[in-house]
Amino acid sequence: MNRRRETLVFEHPAQALSGRPTAEEWIETFHAQLKERGLKSTAQRDEIAQAFYRMGRHISAEELYGEVKQANPHVGYATIYRTLKLLKECELVSERHFDEGQARYEVLGERHHDHFICERCGRIIEFENPQIERLQQAIAQEIGASLTRHKVELYGLCRDCRGGVNK
Ligand SMILES: [Zn+2]
Ligand SMILES: [Zn+2]
Repeated sequence: MNRRRETLVFEHPAQALSGRPTAEEWIETFHAQLKERGLKSTAQRDEIAQAFYRMGRHISAEELYGEVKQANPHVGYATIYRTLKLLKECELVSERHFDEGQARYEVLGERHHDHFICERCGRIIEFENPQIERLQQAIAQEIGASLTRHKVELYGLCRDCRGGVNK
């Protein structure tokens, strides 16, 4: 039991969400970015962006579509997709491509974390491990590079899918 556990698992939303801009700040930035691009903020764009912000993390365009459609049946999938693309261009969301194929999005600016993806149920567990972070810096140094970003993705079966077995 004296093995050091350094990995932080963000099971409580407040942990991973620390550093996240408030909804108001986030939408404000969106409007400013749109203006810079000569685009208008529209009620529909706002509605989609707000729904995305509310839904949390690792959202696919499909899931966002399902959510927005409930409140506004007239919104088309293409509009959802374009708005997500726009949010990405404005650097307000980051796009993830886990193995399943469809892109997933999360709010940019949240606390840095990496991902474990369950290959059976699709559960995504967020974690941060200082050793992995340090190791990557060390590797970069060894090869004379500087890092701008990294992605660590672990794949396997989550605890539930392993049948609750503890080993
Ligand atoms: Zn699972
Ligand atoms: Zn994440």
